[in-house]
Amino acid sequence: MKNLTSTKIIATLGPSSDTKEKIKMLTKAGVTMFRLNSSHADEAEHLRRLNYIREIEKEVGYPIPTLLDLQGPKIRVGVLDDPIELIQNSIVKFRHQEKYIDGIIPVDYAGIAKDAKVGEKILMDDGKLVLEVVQIENGVLSAKVLCGGLLKQRKGINIPGSTGSINVLTERDIQYVKFAVDNEIDYLGLSFVRDGKDVMELRELIKQHNGKTKVISKIEKPQALKNIDDIILKSSGIMVARGDLGIEISPEKVPIVQKEIIQKANAQRKVVIVATQMLESMIEQPIPTRAEASDVANAIIDGTDAIMLSGETAAGKYAVEAVKMMRSIAQNVENSKIMKHNCYPQDLIDCCKDDSIAICMAIVDMVEKINVKAILTLTASGYTPKLLSKAKPSVPIFSFCPSYRNSRRMMLYSDVYPIEMELSGGINQQTLETLDKCLIERFKFKSGDKVIFTGALPDLLVGKTNFIKLHEIEG
Ligand code: ATP
Ligand code: MG
Ligand code: MG
Repeated sequence: MKNLTSTKIIATLGPSSDTKEKIKMLTKAGVTMFRLNSSHADEAEHLRRLNYIREIEKEVGYPIPTLLDLQGPKIRVGVLDDPIELIQNSIVKFRHQEKYIDGIIPVDYAGIAKDAKVGEKILMDDGKLVLEVVQIENGVLSAKVLCGGLLKQRKGINIPGSTGSINVLTERDIQYVKFAVDNEIDYLGLSFVRDGKDVMELRELIKQHNGKTKVISKIEKPQALKNIDDIILKSSGIMVARGDLGIEISPEKVPIVQKEIIQKANAQRKVVIVATQMLESMIEQPIPTRAEASDVANAIIDGTDAIMLSGETAAGKYAVEAVKMMRSIAQNVENSKIMKHNCYPQDLIDCCKDDSIAICMAIVDMVEKINVKAILTLTASGYTPKLLSKAKPSVPIFSFCPSYRNSRRMMLYSDVYPIEMELSGGINQQTLETLDKCLIERFKFKSGDKVIFTGALPDLLVGKTNFIKLHEIEG
């Protein structure tokens, strides 16, 4: 796990990261979690990549979680044999059909010619391509290209202001929920969530399948911003999905909204991800722009748990380089004096009604005063390591947990490194010896190194966190 940064790195898989070798290279370069986007490719392709991840997981010896994004009610371009160059001021045509025929671009939404109106803007590929509707006739929509560029297949189409579908889960999404549960995917990304009810609908569906998959709500609609507190409450995690968000609320509003969402998610002790265009220019170039490097750094300083790569690793020319660059930026920020460690945000303290916050505050206070090498949590659900991670401790949190599924899920929390281990009853001499041995053999700890222990007594797996022990490793 030496290759992993405190801030976790997520990489989206696609044609540029298609082989097992490439996915292993991405893992070694510092990826913590892989994202599969159900909007692209089919179940067979996702399953093939998932199987590679599961094999790599065994080879590297630590859990690698996965996130499957559900498409939601998003209109997309259909199948194109080749990308199409949209030339500024030219007129292009769209129609509801599967493939590119008669010089007409296919759109996967039957209502495209009904919903759009002459004079309205159409944005494609996260707003990179902009068009204006000039005519709608016999189901064919004609539009003038205002900002041109290369259009690839399956790219998203946004008509700002249109209300879109009533349901947040489409038929396709419902299928993919089953796929996620059947294949023990750790997180499902819920696109275009509007309120807490939408989150509950997905959670219900997962429950009907007896699944354990957790919901990450993608914040990309103005309505979601209005209902953000309830969405955070009902979700396991939040993604600042800046692509569609930037279209819906305009790009200049994204930076502050990002900071507000991170702050609110942290106050409610939920995992938070910043996504989209983080190192976008690395799709084509080996070096990012300075603005992109700053963007990655600032998201970490804002307090995110994880940073995500999309097109950079899915369809870019420099997938491995993008991960290495992200890791290097993260390391520079994490080791700088700018980064605040060992303290909780005041709004988290105000928000948290749980006694364990007092214990966690005491622990990070000890980390500040005593030269300890790590915090060790003995946990069943992962609640305490998550709470500790929100203080951004200056030492890693090793989280010993008997459940592999829960361990894998914890991998996404910043600073948390889960280790699967049989735990039962309380702590005796043998428990301490086992932990010492693991830390010495796997993580190169030395005899005499100090660590802080926390968990629940008398039974480690039942009850709330109630003890702190300063422990010296014996080898
Ligand atoms: P979303 O709004 O869910 O982020 P997106 O279209 O922006 O959808 P990303 O997952 O962000 O998709 O990936 C960025 C780009 O990488 C996609 O637009 C697509 O061109 C490419 N891509 C991603 N996954 C795949 C895949 N499995 N197969 C083919 N191309 C992919
Ligand atoms: Mg989106
Ligand atoms: Mg995207």
